[in-house]
Amino acid sequence: MNGLYLEAPEKLSWKDFHLDDPLEENEVKLKVIYGGICGSDIGVYKGKLAHAVYPVIPGHEILGEVIEVGKDVNIAVGQRVVVQPNSYCGTCENCVAGKTNICPEKKSIGINAHGGFMEEIVVDAKYAIAVPKSLTNERAILIEPLSVIVHALAKADITKGTSVAIVGCGTEGLLAVALASFLGAEITAIDINIEKLDEVKKQYPKIHIQHPNEVSADSFDIAIEVAGVTSSFEQCIDIVKPGGTIVAVGLPKTAELPVVKLVREEITIKGSIIYNAVEDFNQSIQYLLEEDFYVEPIISEILPVTQYEEAYEKAVSGKYRKIILKF
Ligand SMILES: [Zn+2]
Ligand SMILES: [Zn+2]
Repeated sequence: MNGLYLEAPEKLSWKDFHLDDPLEENEVKLKVIYGGICGSDIGVYKGKLAHAVYPVIPGHEILGEVIEVGKDVNIAVGQRVVVQPNSYCGTCENCVAGKTNICPEKKSIGINAHGGFMEEIVVDAKYAIAVPKSLTNERAILIEPLSVIVHALAKADITKGTSVAIVGCGTEGLLAVALASFLGAEITAIDINIEKLDEVKKQYPKIHIQHPNEVSADSFDIAIEVAGVTSSFEQCIDIVKPGGTIVAVGLPKTAELPVVKLVREEITIKGSIIYNAVEDFNQSIQYLLEEDFYVEPIISEILPVTQYEEAYEKAVSGKYRKIILKF
């Protein structure tokens, strides 16, 4: 069976793996349908993600069809599933509290464990999340990246009319625009890239767009930081109203905190890392089942995996929204 293989940063190839060990009783084998390329895949590819290991089979946004199951597995052959790509122990204090996303045993496939950009993969059945029949493959492949935003937006109290700044218009930013729109928020998307802003405005005409230089202080109930840039993080603190909340999803290394504003205005900053298995995945599926939850603009292009070089090139360029590999 073939798959992508990242021997070292920027050394990507299509390789034949001879993996035919029999399945363990708790495992399922999937025929991969789609693999989504994400910002962290680019980080791994470029050698810019601190916790990445090499060599690694890349890919963590995986949609597949079950083709074989171990004897203890209760999933039917033929069922479509998405992979929850972050392992957890299930027994530590955090896991018991449902916070599998901060399990100290966490490993992330495609980053520090082998991933899923392969024709077939084997996963523990607890990480295979069933996809309802009515969800198309194109919506189902968004379950994992949307779960990140489901988790983040649940940390802020967003209802009809809440003013929300979404800082950064990459894929996660767009998904945040989609979900906050669905929740009825008054949205302002912020990005340094004017073309990206115009594009978002075209897709979601009801939102406002602003260049970071145009944004006034104390303007929003909530700011979602998805740019991962120090200046964006610092701007989030400046632009929320007194009593406001910042949800930090991006990962700039450090930032300077205006403590006086934070204290005097009771500003809340909440970190949000991936999602909790499996509630956030299930919530993500529920949103995607809603017909008027509009996510069509998220995917730029679907390319056959044989064109992986072009796919990675496009993803690295930053000029596209999500690129999907078709297996
Ligand atoms: Zn991802
Ligand atoms: Zn744990």
